[in-house]
Amino acid sequence: MARITQADLTELNKSFEERTPHELLQWASSIFGKRVAALSAMQMAGSVVCHMISQLKLEIPILFVDTGVNFQETLDTRDRLARDYNLQMITLHPDLTMEEQTRKHGILYLSAEGQKECCEMRKTIPLQKVSGQYDCLVGSLRRAEGGARSRFQILSVDPQMNCVRINPLANFDNEVMDNYIVEHSVIVNPLHSQGFSTISCNRCTTPVMPGEPKRAGRWRHLGPWSVYCGINPTDFDGGTSQAIDLPQDLIDRLLGRETDFSI
Ligand code: SF4
Repeated sequence: MARITQADLTELNKSFEERTPHELLQWASSIFGKRVAALSAMQMAGSVVCHMISQLKLEIPILFVDTGVNFQETLDTRDRLARDYNLQMITLHPDLTMEEQTRKHGILYLSAEGQKECCEMRKTIPLQKVSGQYDCLVGSLRRAEGGARSRFQILSVDPQMNCVRINPLANFDNEVMDNYIVEHSVIVNPLHSQGFSTISCNRCTTPVMPGEPKRAGRWRHLGPWSVYCGINPTDFDGGTSQAIDLPQDLIDRLLGRETDFSI
């Protein structure tokens, strides 16, 4: 194993700014092979990534964390995407049902501290259970979402999962995404047309009013609106010294280095 830091990805990130989402997905598939998966919460941008993976016929499975308190529409969207786009969908679960968690810890999501704990148990830890199976996770974050997400790097290291994260839709603005969805009749979560600009657990997500910030419907009972659940480390600026460990030949491949096989 060898170390690779966020700083090592600087040049690659510069060149990725010019690449299309399709090119970035193909790059991820060609570099990481069977050790790449996409992570989707079955929101609009995740559906676009699913459509692109299907269109390109890439063998990238989709990871979905079922917190046990998702909206039925979200679960139905997952099933439709799997069936109609012929995708391998892998559903991850927390250890405890929400009922068991509430019996043990109380209603956590009603306080700011409890929300962190609840998201950790129901989202982050279930994802961490597949840590070691993938060297790259594809996300669906976009800079047009604003806030902390307006300035993330397309490629980043995720020390918790010890993998690379790639967000191929980083430069998809709202207009481009809306056009893509219409042009390709992309399957999207029906909750979006019912006023939900972002979608998570049914306990912590509401529709938003016209003129409200996009994330106003998340943890509305807690405020402020800028809270993130922690499943996307890109939401928290980790700095250029963050590092992960990968096989040397994989690092060489992803950095585009020539390997001297005669040695
Ligand atoms: S969004 Fe709410 S219910 Fe879902 S895991 Fe986070 S705190 Fe718990």
